[in-house]
Amino acid sequence: MSARIIDGKAVAKRIEDAIKATIATLSWRPGLVAVRVGNDPASEIYVRSKAKKARELGIEGAELIHPASMSEADLLGEIARLNRDDTIDGILVQLPLPKQIDSRKVIDAIDPAKDVDGFHPISVGMLHLGRPALVPCTPAGVIHLIESTGIAIEGKHAVVLGRSDIVGKPMSALLLQRNATVTICHSRTHDLASITRQADILVAAVGKPFVVTDAMVKPGAIVIDVGMNRVGPEFADRLAHDEDKSRLLAKNGSVLIGDVDFARVRNPASWLTPVPGGVGPMTIAMLMKNTLDAAQRRRA
Ligand code: NAP
Repeated sequence: MSARIIDGKAVAKRIEDAIKATIATLSWRPGLVAVRVGNDPASEIYVRSKAKKARELGIEGAELIHPASMSEADLLGEIARLNRDDTIDGILVQLPLPKQIDSRKVIDAIDPAKDVDGFHPISVGMLHLGRPALVPCTPAGVIHLIESTGIAIEGKHAVVLGRSDIVGKPMSALLLQRNATVTICHSRTHDLASITRQADILVAAVGKPFVVTDAMVKPGAIVIDVGMNRVGPEFADRLAHDEDKSRLLAKNGSVLIGDVDFARVRNPASWLTPVPGGVGPMTIAMLMKNTLDAAQRRRA
């Protein structure tokens, strides 16, 4: 049987509609500021789409754009000013930052109450202690996607591929909080397939195409593909079995794929996220939710 597709756009829209409805009842508007340093084209698109979504939902969304030559001291000064500004509930600094700026210092300087990315060490510590916290957006979105299937997380074996600070580690903490038995795999894991084949829930957050093949998936597993890889004609042969992706590759010269061999994993999996249209839309929805949560907590 072919897996059911988890529609990230639809799940994100439901969450965004609820956020918009809540904001409409408030006598004030939550404020979100996205800080961008330099003109990395991908960062530019991400920041613009976050600010646009914020405005759509009734959040005061602003972008602060600085030249790539900005000094660390100036950026820290900017963060201090935003921390003091009472109209601002959420601060996000788009990563990566230019080489002269230590991103850890910048993240540490954000007021944890306004840390809507959930990257501050206090947010990370609270998450791992199981206390209420602003949780990194991508793994928080993945939890909503799994829950949207109606299948309980509790008691399941969840295998997370990747141990980054922004996806893999918080993902495993969130699954553990929901009483999954969690295994974390990474680049040094031996015999990856023997572990992934035990997964009732498999989350791939590696950033390498075809890391998860059908032979690595237990029949009936929920498979969540966080990976985003833009590939070109060098992948034409490996994508030949995937009609949709092959067509897009031929048409556009490149195509966005995840870490999972989508066309082949559809058969063993019971639920599967597409790329794009799976985890991606959830990340922005969760950022909006964190902004509203931060605002309500700060202003309570
Ligand atoms: P990252 O920081 O590069 O981490 C990748 C992780 O994968 C590392 O822990 C690495 O292990 C592990 N890894 C590498 N090769 C592996 C292999 N062959 N088998 C098992 N594990 C392996 O990446 P990230 O920031 O977590 O992002 C991961 C992917 O998710 C990227 O494609 C990124 O673009 C995407 N992403 C998507 C969204 C979204 O909104 N859709 C948001 C964030 C990220 P080591 O620790 O041993 O090096």
